[in-house]
Amino acid sequence: MTLRAIVYTDRAQHRADQKPGSIWFTDPGDGAVCGMWFWCPCGCGMQSRVTVGVEHKPNLSGPTWNWNGSTEAPTLKPSLNVVKNHVCPGWHGWLTDGYWSAC
Ligand SMILES: [Zn+2]
Repeated sequence: MTLRAIVYTDRAQHRADQKPGSIWFTDPGDGAVCGMWFWCPCGCGMQSRVTVGVEHKPNLSGPTWNWNGSTEAPTLKPSLNVVKNHVCPGWHGWLTDGYWSAC
């Protein structure tokens, strides 16, 4: 199963639409590190945030991901794991070239 990851530029619109797999990036600024907000690709309606670095994996205390810096065809490494909770049955997979694919 693959799902197109639509990247929003408008945070309020991203929040309002709640489209599964859609993404909004915070401004990376000079440090080239930012947050990626996304609605769970599984369609459970949960929103999550991960810390990403532009073309590098930030060396921080928490988990981080390497983002290719593209908003048209974003790729994140390594894979993402949305842990099972009271909202989400759990989702694990990859974001590659603008598409989510479950493992
Ligand atoms: Zn989910």
